[in-house]
Amino acid sequence: MSQTQTVRVRFAPSPTGLLHVGGLRTALFNWLFARHCGGTFILRIEDTDRKRYDPRALPDLLESLRWLGLEWDEGPEVGGPYGPYFQSQRLHLYQQYARQLIESGAAYYCFCSPERQGSEDPAQVARRGAATGYDRRCRWIDPRLAAERVAAGEPAVIRLKMPLEGTTTFHDLIRGDITVENSTQDDVVLLKSDGYPTYHLANVVDDHLMHITHILRADEWIASAPRHVQLYKAFGWQMPAIAHLPVVLDPSGKGKMSKRKKIAPDGRALPVHVRDFREAGYLPEAMFNYLALIGWRYDAHTELMTREEIIERFTIERVNPTAAAFDYQKLDYFNGVYIRQLSVEDLAERLMPFVQRAGWHVDRATLRRIVPLIQERMERLDQVTGLVDFFFVEELPDYDAQLLIPKQADVTATRSWLQRAREVLAQVEPFTHDAIEQALRALAAQLGVKTGQLFQPVRVAVCGRLVAPPLFGTLEVLGRERVLRRLDRALAKLAVPEEFGV
Ligand code: GLU
Repeated sequence: MSQTQTVRVRFAPSPTGLLHVGGLRTALFNWLFARHCGGTFILRIEDTDRKRYDPRALPDLLESLRWLGLEWDEGPEVGGPYGPYFQSQRLHLYQQYARQLIESGAAYYCFCSPERQGSEDPAQVARRGAATGYDRRCRWIDPRLAAERVAAGEPAVIRLKMPLEGTTTFHDLIRGDITVENSTQDDVVLLKSDGYPTYHLANVVDDHLMHITHILRADEWIASAPRHVQLYKAFGWQMPAIAHLPVVLDPSGKGKMSKRKKIAPDGRALPVHVRDFREAGYLPEAMFNYLALIGWRYDAHTELMTREEIIERFTIERVNPTAAAFDYQKLDYFNGVYIRQLSVEDLAERLMPFVQRAGWHVDRATLRRIVPLIQERMERLDQVTGLVDFFFVEELPDYDAQLLIPKQADVTATRSWLQRAREVLAQVEPFTHDAIEQALRALAAQLGVKTGQLFQPVRVAVCGRLVAPPLFGTLEVLGRERVLRRLDRALAKLAVPEEFGV
């Protein structure tokens, strides 16, 4: 790359399914590198594999990239000077370039049946040191004869002539020089008999035509790189700089982060597709920060960084070649940090869809009053339903009356405390956080009990559980009427002392 050439990188997914979090990480690193260098981020859709095509994939992909804030400078819906950006609309180009290689003698027509192409005895292949089941039979057909057979309508694929001896070396920006023996490489198919290119041909042709300067891609493609080197050579093109990103491992660190859903200890399905992270209530800000740290770091201790800081600090030299495990707990922690940084209005806005999904009809004003009570306690937006359900129901679902009774207290004492609390709460004016707090603390002093002993039955009476948002604010938001009704119900539950073994 010359000094004046600006960086051009691409994310080139195949639309075969919903975007996986590992794919999003690849997109993010490309985007970060482009933004760091003031370069161009291109989105190219590698949709030449019609058998694996999934119509859900493209909308999901675009939505996922936009959700994370990875807007592309060229590609679907935005266009650009090197389009179209869908490979299925560029078939004529691949066909033309494949023919060019035939003409220059760097590729050949292969007429073997698909069965024969892979049917050679593996032991024989191994003896010859070849990587493929294909024995290169058609490589030796006279090119003029082959051209005649094609002209006569015989179906054929086009294969690249890999060098039969020697080695192929390429420099990986993250891993250094990588060398393979050419004898281990096959004569890869470039163009199929139906005129569709394989990934190798389309990818190389497009990277060249789109002036890509750096390829940053998942490390599963390392094995393809030597073929790509030979393809660039055959065309006489300069190959872009290349880097293979460390693989994302699943939380155990043992296997690749698979597309199968994982189950958390609490029984919840852990997301693996970007869409599921979004639906579980991970903030894009937290995801952005967390994903940037899978395989990259700024220094030994800095982890929480703004988008701008990450862009400024992102270099390929800081990408680590070793695989990194996906850590859901850490992501939850990051998410909690980012949730706490949101303004009340912003968090209320983001919680709205989750509240609606639960079937509650809540107005924005009420939600904004509840947010300060739960903001400190949330790590994911989907937790909102478990935290605040009692605000949205008229009557609490049934709960265990034992919860009302604090340790070292009995049902009779609890009942009398609750009765007194009811009296105080019926009268306190105004029915606001501070006034309620003052009144209840004064009552505890008057009764000669610890505040916790008094607050527990009140909390359980209004929320139906022991762990709940801060009490006084909760009472205020619930409103006097509902609070008194719930206290009455708790008192009724405690009215039958025999049930408590008294
Ligand atoms: N279409 C390939 C994929 O789905 C692109 C690989 C590459 O970036 O070269 O990952």
